[in-house]
Amino acid sequence: MTEAKCLADSEVDISPLSGKRIAIVGYGSQGRAQALNLRDSGYHPTIGIRKGKSYERAIADGFSPTSVEDATSESNLIVVLTPDETQPLLLKKSVLPYLREGSFVCFATGLNLYFGRLSLPEHLNVFMVAPKGPGHILRERFLQGSGIPAIVAAYREDEESLKVALAYSKAIGCTRVGVIVSTVREEAIADLFGEQCVLAGGLVELMKNAFEVLVERGYTPEIAFIECILEVEYMASLIAHTGIKHLRDRISSTAFFGGATRGSKIVDEKTKKRMFSVLDEIENGKFIGEFLEYVNGKFPMVDYSGKYLDLIDTARQALRLSQGGD
Ligand code: NDP
Ligand code: MG
Repeated sequence: MTEAKCLADSEVDISPLSGKRIAIVGYGSQGRAQALNLRDSGYHPTIGIRKGKSYERAIADGFSPTSVEDATSESNLIVVLTPDETQPLLLKKSVLPYLREGSFVCFATGLNLYFGRLSLPEHLNVFMVAPKGPGHILRERFLQGSGIPAIVAAYREDEESLKVALAYSKAIGCTRVGVIVSTVREEAIADLFGEQCVLAGGLVELMKNAFEVLVERGYTPEIAFIECILEVEYMASLIAHTGIKHLRDRISSTAFFGGATRGSKIVDEKTKKRMFSVLDEIENGKFIGEFLEYVNGKFPMVDYSGKYLDLIDTARQALRLSQGGD
């Protein structure tokens, strides 16, 4: 097991960013949040984006967006924040030919770098600053004076790129919580694993199946939604802030006893073995191969399945929950 050092604000020098002209390419979840945080930190990023919804949004936020090509040619730090599957072609057509000598290119995940999806010239300074959370949370926490953690790496493990990466992570607020220096490999693999086994995969299935069980026994969908889905938000936050070890002091005795005796009947050693298989498929490239087939329309259509997805939605809408995600 390796022990990571979590760098704080005071340990990170912001000066490698001074004199950098920053282009934010893409103005979606990460692009918007990073651009706004940069601006509030005193930088003046240029937004490079095609015409459309995001372009209009950048204008509404007070930026003067331009094309990806122009943003690239007038900057020396290009932050690529379009969807992962668009990056190889976008780099080839609109970024690499317009790069100025000595420029830095930043990605928000190690995915395309680690899996060799980009043809990058040898001399290019490339790094990753991967904020660990969606853009709206990156922005929200920044405005609250806090941040979300990030994993950073220099693609070719050179000092200069790493220094700029750390400075950039500070400018978007991540050092306020902690930034970990790692490799693109570790970030790419751990990120996919977390998404698949927990965040967008295992957890979704767990919530969905638990909802189904209550509803199939005749319990009220709105109540099933609250018990098995909505409250995950509070529990996840509690665990994130207090850990699991001290959980028994923070939840009711019945919740603690029930969870400690029943939880491992649901997720057991066999589940863990399957998690190792999921990790195998990420590490050996099977997953990324399938993902590329999927984005190229060569993989059978996929979606979350389940007979009660509409019912979950109806139950959710019965509550006047505040809207997140923007
Ligand atoms: P989004 O889908 O939210 O935003 C994509 C942006 O790119 C939009 O502004 C979109 O503009 C633009 N875009 C899409 N296709 C093209 C194209 N072909 N050419 C030019 N612009 C295009 O992306 P995310 O912010 O989710 O992801 C960006 C990067 O950040 C990815 O590498 C992702 O892995 C990483 N990341 C994402 C996180 C997240 O939670 N969202 C967390 C950490 C990292 P338009 O409106 O015109 O479509
Ligand atoms: Mg992720």
